[in-house]
Amino acid sequence: ASNLNPLYRFENFIAGENSAFAYSAAMAISKNPGVTYNPCLVYGGVGLGKTHLLQSIGNYILENNPELKVVYVTAEMFTNEFIQSIGDKKTQAFKNKYRKVGVLLIDDIHFLQGKDSTQEELFHTFNDLYDTHKQLVFTCDRPISELKDLTSRLRSRFERGLNVDLLPPNYETRMAILKRKSAEKNMSIPDDVLDFISRNVNTNVRDLEASLTKLIAYSTLLNKEITLDIAKEQLKAFPAHNAASPSLSIETIIRVVSDYFNVSTYDVKGKKKTKSLIQPRQIAMYLARILCEYSTSEIGSEFGGKDHSTVMHAYQRVEGMIKTDEALNQTVQKLIREIRDYKK
Ligand code: ADP
Ligand code: MG
Repeated sequence: ASNLNPLYRFENFIAGENSAFAYSAAMAISKNPGVTYNPCLVYGGVGLGKTHLLQSIGNYILENNPELKVVYVTAEMFTNEFIQSIGDKKTQAFKNKYRKVGVLLIDDIHFLQGKDSTQEELFHTFNDLYDTHKQLVFTCDRPISELKDLTSRLRSRFERGLNVDLLPPNYETRMAILKRKSAEKNMSIPDDVLDFISRNVNTNVRDLEASLTKLIAYSTLLNKEITLDIAKEQLKAFPAHNAASPSLSIETIIRVVSDYFNVSTYDVKGKKKTKSLIQPRQIAMYLARILCEYSTSEIGSEFGGKDHSTVMHAYQRVEGMIKTDEALNQTVQKLIREIRDYKK
């Protein structure tokens, strides 16, 4: 058994600017396993398509190169299987199994942090397969350099080949994903609803899918058309999404952002161009734009009388930065959660 889910395929992976490099590398590997990019590591945050892409490689090879033995495991499965084999005194069988594979796909290797004996075992498996030109592909939730408690020799193995990242999709890609996924489900959803979801659910593909699933379920179960009002209402209580909320004040946003960056609300609203103030100010403007239902002019006036183009500029700047800066993206997501939880 390869453990592959046949639904994860290249054909239904929508590659945008955020994933084009990783997608092309995965394709190239599938067409020439063990030859071009070996090993390969794909990293990125939760719900960005790591498992989908990794299993697409497996399914492609399974179908086009059936003589190659493909094994997909999560790092957790690999670990459990290894520990079990120690308990059963069958480590030799474990070693034999993994050293006989043609293509080894290991998902979520961040799970191996601090698991020294499993790392040791994987190190030997890696060397064996690598020396005989077997393809190795891994995924991780962050760049290898940010992993802790990883032996330096295993670290150097992961870093040896091609390391590519998956980033959160931008607005256009989010639209494309929603259009494709609704078409796959034979649902026609009005463009203003798709636009609303794309603007507000900007975390990852999993959340995009979940918001679509919820709206489709609502419409099917209650036999109602999906309208913008329904989307706003239904996605409001959605845990991991960022829809605008009419009751949220810009004041709250400024307070949470100021606390987080340890600066005064007065300065965040003010005009000082100190570097340590510009970023909190722009992030607060960005959050006001996506979380509240105010116009950019209204937001500008709450920020000490700035005009709408200043707000637009801040919005676009932060929107651009969170696409390439995963740490900043995480900070913004954290702030959104804090703003949502803010009482008083
Ligand atoms: P990860 O492993 O990075 O947490 P997954 O691969 O499990 O993410 O993806 C989460 C969900 O989103 C899955 O249902 C997957 O099919 C879907 N998905 C992710 N990226 C894409 C994409 N680019 N195109 C189509 N579906 C995607
Ligand atoms: Mg995954």
